[in-house]
Amino acid sequence: MSLRVYNTLSQKKEPFEPVRPGKVGIYVCGPTVYKPPHMGHMVGPVIFDTIKRYLTLKGYEVTLVVNVTDVDDKIIKEAADTGQTPQKVAERCTGLYMDCLKSLGIDTIDRFPKASEHIGDMVQIIEKLMQRGHAYASGGDVWFDVMSDKDYGKLAHRSTEEQESGNRTLEGGGKRHPADFALWKSAKPGEPTWPSPWGPGRPGWHIECSAMSIKYLGETFDIHGGGDDLKFPHHENELAQSECCTGKTFAKYWLHNGLTRVKTKAASGEWKMEKQSKSIGNVVDAKQFIDEQGADLMRYLLLSTHYRRPIDFSDDVIASTKKGLAVFPRLFERVEAIAGGKLADNTPDMDQLSTAITETDLTAFAKAVIAQKAKFLEMMDDDFNTAGAIAAMHDLAGEINSFIEARHVEQEKAPALVSAATAATSTLRKLGVVLGLFRVGVAAPKAAAKDDLSEKLMQLLIKLRQQARKEKNFAIADGIRNGLTEIGVTLEDRADGTIWRKA
Ligand SMILES: [Zn+2]
Repeated sequence: MSLRVYNTLSQKKEPFEPVRPGKVGIYVCGPTVYKPPHMGHMVGPVIFDTIKRYLTLKGYEVTLVVNVTDVDDKIIKEAADTGQTPQKVAERCTGLYMDCLKSLGIDTIDRFPKASEHIGDMVQIIEKLMQRGHAYASGGDVWFDVMSDKDYGKLAHRSTEEQESGNRTLEGGGKRHPADFALWKSAKPGEPTWPSPWGPGRPGWHIECSAMSIKYLGETFDIHGGGDDLKFPHHENELAQSECCTGKTFAKYWLHNGLTRVKTKAASGEWKMEKQSKSIGNVVDAKQFIDEQGADLMRYLLLSTHYRRPIDFSDDVIASTKKGLAVFPRLFERVEAIAGGKLADNTPDMDQLSTAITETDLTAFAKAVIAQKAKFLEMMDDDFNTAGAIAAMHDLAGEINSFIEARHVEQEKAPALVSAATAATSTLRKLGVVLGLFRVGVAAPKAAAKDDLSEKLMQLLIKLRQQARKEKNFAIADGIRNGLTEIGVTLEDRADGTIWRKA
């Protein structure tokens, strides 16, 4: 099966065919840097990082650009409220955002252009729009003339009345039509300004993304991504001004991701899901979440839902996510203990091993493993269905655990069976890496980290318990186990020894 993606423009799943064979350009609207990032800000980076990983696996050469909006009304307001310069606010919040991406192991973004460094490119586009009769200046402001664009509204699929109401709140007079939007805003006291042919001022938000995407990906590129809330007016306006400027298709595929929702208690006492936003004040700080729960949990949580659907947050969701994710490290530890070594990127997987397998019943296991991998790829080909891909990973983990038990791999350690179990687990781990999971160097959860001293103390307790059992002193042996359970540590007796984990 080949890749199909849902395009907001056509409201259909379409076969994916890049503009330039073998190459893919992706532009994702990044953060407006005025507050520390919350969970919602990590959805786009995690999803498009995963999309890039998958497209790279499929052999494409992918360029991923995520902009930083460091010139904006919200930043100016935050600066005024906190007595800082807008530049300081933007710098600090950009740093916090980058820290989160680093902790999450997001290293696939090729460029982070800043709006403040591309004002000249924006002025050029505005000038071209004026020459082509799509924009007009009025008292130091420049407006996009919505009525001059017959295609306006084609992305958000909105009626003219809805468009008008969407833009009604834009500040400034001198507009010809209520739906017209600002390309350039004249200077106001205390705001950062740049020179322009229409006098000092600053760009509108939408023009920033047109300028930066065209500069780094060309006038026509493949994928434009962003949150569902950006569809209108931001993306509609970006599309209109870009296509009116170049006369060419702007982005071929528009992908919109769902927003995060948090379970909150209403005044009536009822629980409900509501959009996570700073204005509502129900935000979950991204850095804090990554520090406490680990990068893999955040990624797994965000990817367990199809990217176009809203992502729900609640204690229940986090608890079940933890339980789901834990299946994998537990299996890795199990197989590493059997094989007597760590699984690594170069551990042979089932594709590599299967040709050497001759035993009939092992062939059946190898086939089952390869079938689950095919299922994973089929899910990803279906509009990047990461939730379905994760389900295939769970089925594969189930196959491997059943194989280990049915064939007594732990007890007998027959070499052919150990290699088969290891190769199957290596296949599973590599599928996780496509989703950005199980990677070395990403942030581990603080709570679950086993420091050196705890490890030594636990090994001592495990040894004492074994000794007690040998001497049939079950009161002491059970006392150790129960005492540990009380403080949240579980012991698991396996054929090849006892392991411990924190609940
Ligand atoms: Zn944008």
